[in-house]
Amino acid sequence: MNKTIRTFAAAALLGISLFSSCTSTNSGSETVDLIVYNGNVYTVNDNFDKAEAFAVKDGKIVAVGTTDEIRGNYKASEELNAEGKTIYPGLIDGHSHFYRYGLSLQTADLVGTESFKEVVQKVTEQHEKYPDADWIIGRGWDQNDWAVKEFPTKDTLDQLFPNTPVILTRVDGHAALANQKALDLAGVTPQTKMVGGLVEVENGQMTGILVDNAVDMVSNKIPAPDEAEQRQALQNAQQNCFAVGLTTIVDAGLDKATVDLMDAMHQSGDLQMRVYAMLNPTEENKNHYYKSGPYKTDWLNVRSFKIYSDGALGSRGANLIKPYSDRQGHFGFLLASEQEFREIAAQLNEHGFQMNTHAIGDSANRLLLDIYGEVLGGKNDKRWRIEHAQIINPADMQKFGRYSILPSVQPTHATSDMYWAGERLGSERIKHAYPFKELLQQNGYMPLGSDFPVEDINPIFGFHAAVARQDANNYPDGGFQMENALTREEAIRGMTIWAAKANFEENEKGSIAPGKFADFIVVDRDLMTVAPQEIRALQVLQTYINGKQVYKK
Ligand SMILES: [Zn+2]
Repeated sequence: MNKTIRTFAAAALLGISLFSSCTSTNSGSETVDLIVYNGNVYTVNDNFDKAEAFAVKDGKIVAVGTTDEIRGNYKASEELNAEGKTIYPGLIDGHSHFYRYGLSLQTADLVGTESFKEVVQKVTEQHEKYPDADWIIGRGWDQNDWAVKEFPTKDTLDQLFPNTPVILTRVDGHAALANQKALDLAGVTPQTKMVGGLVEVENGQMTGILVDNAVDMVSNKIPAPDEAEQRQALQNAQQNCFAVGLTTIVDAGLDKATVDLMDAMHQSGDLQMRVYAMLNPTEENKNHYYKSGPYKTDWLNVRSFKIYSDGALGSRGANLIKPYSDRQGHFGFLLASEQEFREIAAQLNEHGFQMNTHAIGDSANRLLLDIYGEVLGGKNDKRWRIEHAQIINPADMQKFGRYSILPSVQPTHATSDMYWAGERLGSERIKHAYPFKELLQQNGYMPLGSDFPVEDINPIFGFHAAVARQDANNYPDGGFQMENALTREEAIRGMTIWAAKANFEENEKGSIAPGKFADFIVVDRDLMTVAPQEIRALQVLQTYINGKQVYKK
């Protein structure tokens, strides 16, 4: 230990670069591909043991120990001197929309724009970045953020892009600004009328503003992304994810064509992000995978379906047992009949697939817990999941444990929703919302995720939300409903080994242990000891997958 500290101090004094790769000069006998040493290594094994070093061969960890042990027993052509920096297993996002996020990177992000001029500027930059795109698509403007709080008109877009269709959706998705080319392609004229939608007309001319169903008339004309765009989306997404330390993502809702593309890109080396795929319950997916059964490589694991049972709390779509506190007689709604949920549960059980159901309201959670319970019967190892599990009636909580059902939760949802969730739920019901600690206690392990791009992709924000239950500005003082905060160790496990276990992958990833993939990250601060208000500033310095560097800051 003394030696480690001295090395670190000397390096700092001499201004030596943080990491060095060099030909080994140590006396070890067994040859490996990579030795990582002088690290503050969190192995995240059962005892939460720490280590200083590990050896990697053929993409897998072969030994973990002190720097002296590892350098004494092994020699390698490549060495990484971590110089005291903290190392964690590669992080896993237990619930995301990786592919959809990648596609969104090809559209202009207009959230937070402060004027229509800024919108036009961002759209122009987007067009310069992707000049071959058939359409220019943007999302997220809100005229309430502008000095002139009025809907914009399409004139500038018509001048700049006379031949390229443009559609820019408002932040809530219920209105959009389209240019003339887009309106022409959709056949929208000043005379267009429809139920549940509006084409704004002033002095006989369309302004370009479309509301509700009129938005769909235009957006339905946007062609599906071609293969080049799909590949680009996956590569852009993985690049950003590597930079925040993610080495495995769960994609909650994929179709066979995208899964096949991912598989092909994994085989050719174009995609190195490990993917746990949840399939959409389409006829095509069911027909194929019910016949073929689960599919697994080192990179891709296809053995689950993603079902939606209700909507979201913000839009009052979440299905509640008692009416919303801020809308009389409104319960939200289920997205299918009870019978349909029963049928798919029986099918998935029969064909050996994990069932993962989006359930937010306490009524939706109750229904799915009961249907799962009927199929599963009691304790089991099928690891069926409830995605989000946001509002749980106390009478239902123990069903998670009784039927070994995993809640799959997103800590940043708690800190994004805490400002208004109490209005929806009332002062009593809110106490049973985002009950992460209580949920964790039901099975003793629980995956954590982000649901990006609904939330930020950075898993460290989720760690902060889980342990401090505060937003980016450390609001509220003392944290939101702290009785349901997780400990730091629990939160780290939720982002690594527990997320791996929820994917049936705890024997191959999720900790730094012999036999596991050499997926790990080097970071600039220690999540176990850093002050709460410093957590979100954590920087990932390096990300490794299979012992190969995929990101360096
Ligand atoms: Zn989701």
